[in-house]
Amino acid sequence: MILLFGTRATVTVLATVWFVCHFCGFDAAQKVIERRNRLTLFWIPLFTLSRSFANVCSNCGREVPLTREQVANAERWEASQR
Ligand SMILES: [Zn+2]
Repeated sequence: MILLFGTRATVTVLATVWFVCHFCGFDAAQKVIERRNRLTLFWIPLFTLSRSFANVCSNCGREVPLTREQVANAERWEASQR
């Protein structure tokens, strides 16, 4: 019997916020993303191995790592803008 294990990386956009980028200096959309690495068995995701959050500038593409609390603040800010 052959078991096929592997990992799958996914990126999810959690929120989009606007502010002046620290790197490029433009007032551009900043995407708050979540990266997940999941263990797969026969290409079916079983559980999450690692999870990280980052802020990605839509103008220059630079990334800044975020904490869960910063992500929660970004989601609250986005919800308040609707
Ligand atoms: Zn930028």
